[in-house]
Amino acid sequence: MKAIAATPKEEKSARMVEVPVPGVGDGEVLVRVRLVGLDGTDREIDEGLYGDPPDGENFLIIGHESLGEVVEVGGRVQALRPGDRVVATVRRPDDCLNCQEGEYDMCLEGNYTERGIKGRHGYLSEFYVEEEEFLVKVPKVLGDLAVLLEPMSVAEKAVRMAFSVQERMRWEPKTAMVTGTGTLGLLTAAILRLGGLAVASVDRSDNDHKAEIFSALGVAHFNTKKINLHAIPKELGCQIDLIVEETGSSSVALHSMMVVGTNGVVVLTSITGGDKKMEICSDCFNQGLVLGNKAVVGSANAHRRDFEEGIGHLLTIENRWPGLLRKLITAKYPPEKIREALDSMRDNIKVAIEFEPQEVSR
Ligand code: BGC
Ligand code: ZN
Repeated sequence: MKAIAATPKEEKSARMVEVPVPGVGDGEVLVRVRLVGLDGTDREIDEGLYGDPPDGENFLIIGHESLGEVVEVGGRVQALRPGDRVVATVRRPDDCLNCQEGEYDMCLEGNYTERGIKGRHGYLSEFYVEEEEFLVKVPKVLGDLAVLLEPMSVAEKAVRMAFSVQERMRWEPKTAMVTGTGTLGLLTAAILRLGGLAVASVDRSDNDHKAEIFSALGVAHFNTKKINLHAIPKELGCQIDLIVEETGSSSVALHSMMVVGTNGVVVLTSITGGDKKMEICSDCFNQGLVLGNKAVVGSANAHRRDFEEGIGHLLTIENRWPGLLRKLITAKYPPEKIREALDSMRDNIKVAIEFEPQEVSR
């Protein structure tokens, strides 16, 4: 079968390869892949900056934002049946305390693996095999939009983290801000709008296509090339209660902690490799956090419950703003065009690889 592999640590190595269709164990499910979304992590792997192949192998099949259809189930599979639509989770547990509790997004030891990223092949192949417990069944009415479920799960976890941290007091947030307006930022903004919050978004560009999305969602957009992050609360006329940082820029992250209002919370969801340094007034920074009772929480990956919550929210978003989610998937490429697909990511919101349905041949 066709697959897309990269050689970690090697620049621009993503390419098509032929690999055998994997066998299906007792508790396992064979999934025919339909669509796989690409994100910054895939690009970083292709740039040689991130990613590890499975032990003893020299390439990694990439792709972790999947949507597929069940074609075969092993004898011990309980609920899934051929024809079901499924999205796979990404992380696989090690034997730490949290992983053993099913909280592998909160892994304590760091020996987890991630499909398509760290130590395990991903989903950019015509078929993949996975254990039932790592597959999430998605309703057929979502159609291709279900390919947004993995990024949605990351947004869901970020919002869930904010609300769970804020249980430290009576909290009635009114205004939120998302920094970064990629798929993750837009999905987070939509979740927060569904929750009844006023939402501001910031990025560094003016993009007419995104402007349409902001206006449909009722999001106030700011371009930080034109306005300083610190001026936004004044511009909005109120304090910001919650900031979800999704640019991965460490300086935006630090500034967000200063910009968030009294009793506020900042959720950091993204990183950029590197060792950038900046100078800050550490006294002011400390005073602001302490006297403002502010909280900062990092949020990585997602729990299975975030996928489940995400399905509900994708359906509600589609109902409330019909056609909006479709506008996030701005390009689809066949696997043969992986290079073009990766190169087109800067000009797109979500780029997805689309596989022609194949019959299983072993
Ligand atoms: C994925 C997460 C993963 C993270 C770090 C992201 O692109 O969506 O599931 O935990 O990369 O590897
Ligand atoms: Zn663990």
